[in-house]
Amino acid sequence: MLLPLTKIPTPSLHEHSRRLTKEEILSPEIQQLIQDMIPTMYKEQGIGLAAPQVGVNIQLCIIGKEAIPENFFPTNISKDLVLINPTYTRTGRKVVLETEGCLSVPGKQGKVKRYKQIYVEALDEQGEPIHFEAHGYLAHVAQHETDHLNAILYIDKADTVWDIGQS
Ligand code: ZN
Repeated sequence: MLLPLTKIPTPSLHEHSRRLTKEEILSPEIQQLIQDMIPTMYKEQGIGLAAPQVGVNIQLCIIGKEAIPENFFPTNISKDLVLINPTYTRTGRKVVLETEGCLSVPGKQGKVKRYKQIYVEALDEQGEPIHFEAHGYLAHVAQHETDHLNAILYIDKADTVWDIGQS
């Protein structure tokens, strides 16, 4: 089922999201939400989608396979990445200025400072711990999506934001 998107100025986009237990992750409700968020992200042409963007304030986000490097998954399969309760820490000194947009902020783009390299810890869709080093595009998307779960939109930290017209 495709889900409707939550867009600014909906207040819940600026509310912190609740962490999930393994039991909750394995529940039919959360598994269904994951199954619904993936096609919703592709239909809306997003590269990532966080649960608050579909009106659910829980710590769950997905990152589209376009942002996932080859060899990321052990068996070299290509799939979307599900991150639950994710946290990141910077692992390099470099900060890059990236252009980004957000499905919850239609018609705008902005320049945002992002860490070039980060270490991510999370649970996967089975509730199992995962951790990985990310750099470049994956690092950039993972920071944007994790920020959503911590009540932060890119426009809150952007150096500049401009109109691109409604699409
Ligand atoms: Zn976003």
